[in-house]
Amino acid sequence: MLVNGCLACDELAGKVRAPGGVIYEDQHWMVSHRLGHDAVPGHLILKLKRHCEHLAELTPAEAATLGPMIQKTSSALSKLLNAVKVYAASYGEEVGHIHFFIIPRTADMPAGNMRVLLYLRLHTLLIRCGLKRAATEVERGHIAERVSAEIQRL
Ligand SMILES: [Zn+2]
Repeated sequence: MLVNGCLACDELAGKVRAPGGVIYEDQHWMVSHRLGHDAVPGHLILKLKRHCEHLAELTPAEAATLGPMIQKTSSALSKLLNAVKVYAASYGEEVGHIHFFIIPRTADMPAGNMRVLLYLRLHTLLIRCGLKRAATEVERGHIAERVSAEIQRL
């Protein structure tokens, strides 16, 4: 149950914990693994550490550190998961709190944002139907730990 109606704020308050916990953070942003048992391993979420729903309302300091956070996270995912591409996207439709999906596209995934979004939906559907094994929380946590260690080396 969401305490204040915002899943991101609940995670930032420690009421919800992603596998592996906090991967990386600075004064304004925090990276963690996507929540949900059906998350693709390495699908990370970069979220603002305060509740704000519009990119136009970022402070200059928040905006200045966003790029480096995306770059470091993408670099670590590229290296550790051999990602062909790392997508960074922010929609804010289901969870309004500013957050970015950081999605590693590996060689076995289709290229293109719509194809990847469909792939992710299919991945979830197959898991929910019992036709595909979900990565365990331990497996996703292990990836989170490796990404965290890699970012610290950057
Ligand atoms: Zn929030």
